[in-house]
Amino acid sequence: MATGLVFHELYLWHDTGSAASVFTPGLTIEPDQHAENPATKRRLRSMLEVSGLREHLVALPPRAATEDEIGRFHTRGHIERVKALSAERGGDAGVMTPFGPGSFEIACLSAGGVISAVDAVLGGAVANAYALVRPPGHHAEADRGLGFCIFGNVAIAVMHARAVGGVGRVATVDWDVHHGNGTQAAFYADPEVLTLSIHQDRLFPLKGGGVEERGEGRGMEANINVPLPPGCGDAAYLHVFDKVVTPALRRFRPELLVVPCGFDASGVDPLGRMMVTSEGYRAMTGRMLELADELCGGRVVFVHEGGYAASHVPFCGLAVIETLSGIRTGVEDPWLPVMTRWGGTELQPHQADAVRRAGQAAGLE
Ligand code: ZN
Repeated sequence: MATGLVFHELYLWHDTGSAASVFTPGLTIEPDQHAENPATKRRLRSMLEVSGLREHLVALPPRAATEDEIGRFHTRGHIERVKALSAERGGDAGVMTPFGPGSFEIACLSAGGVISAVDAVLGGAVANAYALVRPPGHHAEADRGLGFCIFGNVAIAVMHARAVGGVGRVATVDWDVHHGNGTQAAFYADPEVLTLSIHQDRLFPLKGGGVEERGEGRGMEANINVPLPPGCGDAAYLHVFDKVVTPALRRFRPELLVVPCGFDASGVDPLGRMMVTSEGYRAMTGRMLELADELCGGRVVFVHEGGYAASHVPFCGLAVIETLSGIRTGVEDPWLPVMTRWGGTELQPHQADAVRRAGQAAGLE
């Protein structure tokens, strides 16, 4: 069975406007492109085309999530505010989440794209799926957008799967370099959804994401954070899989896996300070597939989140989607022979300590 791909041209039309990285231009900040602009997503889509991989994927047309579906996670106030601003000239969905005219509809299509991917996997139309959606979702909170995220795409799709898809236990493994705070918050008291985030410690948001955030009430132990020091490479990330991800998922026994997949742990990402290579992303995807096969009939959905290095995201994304589909295109990542020679990419003692602390806090050793 094939791998599904969700994409829509309108994802690239979501307009984050002018900025210098994430900062609003002014008399001392020269206007430039916003860090979260369409380039990395467009270039990944182009790579799928040029490599020939796209013709082996099943195109999954996204639909717009309904306001009721979005309202499973978000407040009506947040939805109405975004809708009203979008109908005029745009605005900010909360904090650091600028958008232009029409972004409400595009954000609904982004959340709905993840729903389409989940439905296709649960319905058996595809073996697994990659949702190349935009705007991203994992920072959005119930009552506001945050960190470029208008609606919580993964949270909304997981709530949909549980409400109407006949799925009970769902686990999310978020390897975006930033903390998956929004997905965590959506299920913090829910014992049926395990949220696990691997991220650079207090990169964004500047607070939270520590190992002591383990869930609350009946949801206690169903949230796991793995905050890592800057500078972690493939070896540290795979160590996290050995010591935390694998035992945590085996203990939880999910019926569906969802991966909020950010490529901003890349060694050349402008917003993160990690050193993950495209082969690292390939290996992590392989581990997720093995766990999905072992635990939930191979049912896994990958959802695009961050990733801001235009020269590297296409190769990292290709490695992930090649692995999901089991097809190698032969395209070579020009960064790979560079990054693999960098010093300090082996597992460092202080990185192993951070992983040990996360595993201990989660009761895994
Ligand atoms: Zn990120």
